[in-house]
Amino acid sequence: PKYSKEDVMRMAKDENVMFIRLQFTDIFGVLKNVAITVKELEKALNNEIMFDGSSIEGFVRIEESDMYLRPDPSSFVIFPWGQNNGKEARLICDTYNPDGTPFIGCPRNVLKKALAEAAQMGYEMSVGPECEFFLFLTDAEGKPTLNTHDKAGYFDLAPVDLGEDARRDMCLTLQQMGFEIEASHHEGAPGQHEIDFKYDDALMTADKIMTFKMVVRTVAKRHGLHATFMPKPIYGISGSGMHTNQSLSKNGKNIFDDPSGVLGLSQEAYYYMGGLMKHAKGITAITNPTVNSYKRLVTGYEAPLYIAWSPKNRSPLIRVPAKRGSATRLELRNPDPTANPYLALAVMLKAGLDGIRNKIQPPPPVDKNIFDMNQDVRAEYAIESLPQNLEDAICEMEKDPLIREALGEHIYTKYVEAKKLEWDEYKTKVSLWEIERYISEF
Ligand code: GLN
Ligand code: MG
Ligand code: MG
Ligand code: MG
Repeated sequence: PKYSKEDVMRMAKDENVMFIRLQFTDIFGVLKNVAITVKELEKALNNEIMFDGSSIEGFVRIEESDMYLRPDPSSFVIFPWGQNNGKEARLICDTYNPDGTPFIGCPRNVLKKALAEAAQMGYEMSVGPECEFFLFLTDAEGKPTLNTHDKAGYFDLAPVDLGEDARRDMCLTLQQMGFEIEASHHEGAPGQHEIDFKYDDALMTADKIMTFKMVVRTVAKRHGLHATFMPKPIYGISGSGMHTNQSLSKNGKNIFDDPSGVLGLSQEAYYYMGGLMKHAKGITAITNPTVNSYKRLVTGYEAPLYIAWSPKNRSPLIRVPAKRGSATRLELRNPDPTANPYLALAVMLKAGLDGIRNKIQPPPPVDKNIFDMNQDVRAEYAIESLPQNLEDAICEMEKDPLIREALGEHIYTKYVEAKKLEWDEYKTKVSLWEIERYISEF
């Protein structure tokens, strides 16, 4: 571990930290926190801070609501903003039952469980995400609009590009918080951006994704912008994905790399890919968890729709980026940033491990553009599609026992229940599209 309890106590004192946010993530990927003053830090580090679990959606019933937070000392970071009245720091926590056992409804514990299973096979998982997002202007009341700073007519001569400025600030802030930023660029659509940080072990990366989203939103706000990770805010332009680069290592060596293998990939890499492809339909409800997620997974915007892989082409579900050696990895392209990163990484890993355990060989690569193939040609290549909407995705998840096993009974049940309700609500709402299409015609 990076820090001990004593390190955290000392850093808090030396840096004049006044408040500490104890953070954890709910089942649906929303960051929660309980703020404490520095006086209570020692108590927190001794796992004595309690909270009411029944107030967190999908956690526990009222009758069993006492939960404990166990901060991970290594996650200690001082926020580089708002330091007027003393600094503020955070600690990421696991949630525990009063009897000292890990709470089965805690997504971070779910990922830890999957990682422990990998560790038993001698593997460690590394993950590098590519988070995309939109920056929108806010209105007079500070509410998000769908207007972007740069969709602007070319005639508007803005002295600075608000978005680029905000993005630079995001990168600097993230760096101050210990992120290593590898790339940051404007994405395809107006107002759309991407910031990539260096890969790390899976648990650290999941924590970082949560922190990343918080920082991006916070900094955007400071620039008078609204950042959203909603996958498809605007019809007719690109959506936002969270491509997930992943690899396994053994004793510090990337085991997806094999210079003598086909395309320089090892047998394990192919089996892992086979596992991802076999469970692709089942994991989509976790990697693409919202109604809106499926508006992104359509033809024409570089988002995947078909279950295929390729070393070249960018349209398939899995791409094999060209780098080899320690950077050898598979890039799964369907996840979007509304996914709970702990659950998403857990199900991806479980799928990959299933591939290795059961020697699941992936089909041959498809180097042609699948979007140009008609249904018959796709059938010839036996190329299947990802679920087309949240309802299909939940249905596929229910058919795949691996997902239930990965999530555990508690989260699985709560998740399915909540997502079915979400779908039902959406299904019965009358949309603007329907009004525009039918109100005059009929
Ligand atoms: N925005 C695209 C998506 O939805 C990805 C574009 C890219 O990074 N090549 O996945
Ligand atoms: Mg990218
Ligand atoms: Mg991108
Ligand atoms: Mg990518």
